[in-house]
Amino acid sequence: MERTTLKRQRPQFWRVARRCCQIAATVDIAFLGIFLALGSPILAWVNVVSVAMYAWAFYALGRRQNALAISLVWTEVLVHAALGSILIGWDSGFHYYLLMFIPAIAVTMSARYAVIALSSLWLYYLGLYTISLYYPPLQPISAAALIGVNVFNLSIVFAMFSYLGFFYARTVSSASRKLNRLASTDSLTLLHNRRHLTELAEAEMTRAERYKKPLSILLIDVDHFKLINDIYGHPKGDQVLQHLAKLIRLELRQHDLIGRWGGEEFLIVLPETDIVTAEQVAERIRIAINSYNWRDNLNKDLSVTLSVGVSQLAANETFNRIVSRADKALYISKSSGRNRVTKLDAEPNT
Ligand code: GH3
Ligand code: MG
Ligand code: MG
Repeated sequence: MERTTLKRQRPQFWRVARRCCQIAATVDIAFLGIFLALGSPILAWVNVVSVAMYAWAFYALGRRQNALAISLVWTEVLVHAALGSILIGWDSGFHYYLLMFIPAIAVTMSARYAVIALSSLWLYYLGLYTISLYYPPLQPISAAALIGVNVFNLSIVFAMFSYLGFFYARTVSSASRKLNRLASTDSLTLLHNRRHLTELAEAEMTRAERYKKPLSILLIDVDHFKLINDIYGHPKGDQVLQHLAKLIRLELRQHDLIGRWGGEEFLIVLPETDIVTAEQVAERIRIAINSYNWRDNLNKDLSVTLSVGVSQLAANETFNRIVSRADKALYISKSSGRNRVTKLDAEPNT
């Protein structure tokens, strides 16, 4: 399951990385026009090379040549920031693009390498600034054009930071949703796991008590499951459990809760259901499994039966208490021959 999570996230990463290359190349094409109009052919040529480098990085990402693509983008941004600052001056704002590396480094590198990379970037940034303090621009443009280029660069960096910010936020929240799902689901049957089912059941019990509604539970245990494993093998046993989960689910209402309680045990919470109706539901499930044609499904001459214990929530009762009564009822089903349903009412003084 973990692997599918990664698989699903990867294409999104490649898509975003390629999108960034497209945006950067588009910006450089715009600059090509701007610098030709401003009569700065050297800067126009710089942008031709930049567009080519982004096109190459885009192509490399498509072929999953991650290291090549990253080197191309790094080189382009470092060189472009330096050329922009040296040729038309610090006020052109080409150095803003260097700032975009800060979150990228922090997110993608281990702490040790990130510190080295960030320190180097900081020195590079200061170096460019120092040069611009001591040397006038080599290809100056008019003051108005300089402001225009600066505002343009600032706006692009603003937009790209916002885009990346939203991308990171989406990635983090989708990863946390997946983790939550993994932490609350049984990986074999895809039912609620024991911890999550307990939480949901306790919430249902609170509701039942507040609105004075009945609530019952069924504790189901597969009969002689060890034999099924021994005869057909553990993988077949797993398949039986998966299929059982689906078959039992079919007998329940939308708002009933079902979870895997243990190895071959399932626990069902039936809100707004008294013990007599719960017993009927349990009987329906037992018959459905008993009469199911496992031969068709598993190509084996297999019979699967269930024993069930039924209990109803009594006043001021804890979840452990109602489960323990269902467990006693289940034990009676087992000891009186299996493949049967037993209900156990709460004792009046409990
Ligand atoms: P009983 O009728 O008394 O319940 O007999 P049983 O054999 O079902 O009960 P027992 O508790 O002796 O054995 C339960 C078996 O369930 C043993 C264990 O290997 C098997 N089991 C538990 N979890 C899994 C699982 O995830 N997959 C498979 N294939 N088997 C499992
Ligand atoms: Mg058992
Ligand atoms: Mg069993």
